[in-house]
Amino acid sequence: MVFSIDDYDDHEAIVFHQDRNSGLKAIIGIHNTALGPALGGCRMWPYATEDEAVTDVLRLSRGMTYKAAITGLPLGGGKSVIIGDPRTDKSSALLRAMGRFINSLDGRYISAEDVGTTVADLDAMRKETPYARGTSGGSGNPSPATAFGVYQGIRAVVKHRFGTDDLKDIRVAVQGLGNVGYGLAELLAKDGAQLVVTDINTDRVKAFAEQYGAAVTSPEDIHKADVDILAPCALGASLNDQTLPEIKAAIIAGSANNQLARPEHGIDLHERGILYAPDYAINAGGLVTVAAEGADYSETAAMEKVEGIYDTMTEIFTRSDRENTAPEIIADRMAEERFKGAIKVAA
Ligand code: NAD
Repeated sequence: MVFSIDDYDDHEAIVFHQDRNSGLKAIIGIHNTALGPALGGCRMWPYATEDEAVTDVLRLSRGMTYKAAITGLPLGGGKSVIIGDPRTDKSSALLRAMGRFINSLDGRYISAEDVGTTVADLDAMRKETPYARGTSGGSGNPSPATAFGVYQGIRAVVKHRFGTDDLKDIRVAVQGLGNVGYGLAELLAKDGAQLVVTDINTDRVKAFAEQYGAAVTSPEDIHKADVDILAPCALGASLNDQTLPEIKAAIIAGSANNQLARPEHGIDLHERGILYAPDYAINAGGLVTVAAEGADYSETAAMEKVEGIYDTMTEIFTRSDRENTAPEIIADRMAEERFKGAIKVAA
């Protein structure tokens, strides 16, 4: 029973769908639409059990409500999951069936890409529904916008900490040179930051280090680097019991989702005087461009909106200082004030 699952948080709707012809088994979770239609990516993953898929859609859709609200977007939170292996189970028929499923909700849920889906997959869904964003005819791959948003967020946190947002000679450790991390590292290098980088993919590390003259360290040691900023841009839970006491950086700001292994780690960082940029707020650049998509989509105008992440970060850290409360708790409060406030107005 979904209502008794721990991760159920008064979600507005959880909709299940099966299409036997294509093999599609999918769930759409709509957490909250007080601020607008629920937007969030479509994840395709070989979940071991259906319960796992339900839990994921509950958690991810709730997270999108907070992300849209903290970013000031007129959107609610939703997410969809397809149960299946994206490498072997994906087909045009399955993606089009997913498009029809999305369309059946008449725009209450709008999809975009996520783990296991690509711009091409969204193009296939788009053939069946206008409620598929991040397509090749629209805002496309969100990673450059995410990188640019993290860069703006870093500038704001640096200004808060050091009194200037000039990144020249600021020392940054970039953990993960993937789609976002590589782009972020390039932006930082162009501003004259001194970089130390790592990735488990040595080709990417070599390419970056050769082009920009960055120092290189191992994935095991990156969090210990003697730097001003640690930018986690790989996987989640990199801030944990083992890494936290070894961090020398004054600021942690990167794109990875769910960086804190547990919520207490955020309090620990706050008590150690390390400024932690709440992940879902600093990595919202891709969402901003997807949200801006429409008939008159302009990449330049969308990127100007992404710059707003600078102001969001400033607001979070100013309030964090004022209330002497960890920034991720402040971010949650700010988001709740917006979407819960919206419910009160509508009631
Ligand atoms: P990606 O898969 O392109 O890049 C991740 C990189 O991290 C890869 O190069 C991988 O080799 C590397 N990596 C994996 N484990 C590592 C380790 N232990 N140490 C060092 N490097 C390691 O993914 P991405 O799209 O660049 O996303 C990066 C992070 O940002 C993810 O957590 C993602 O959820 C989050 N995020 C991405 C976007 C986006 O627009 N792409 C938006 C919001 C959040």
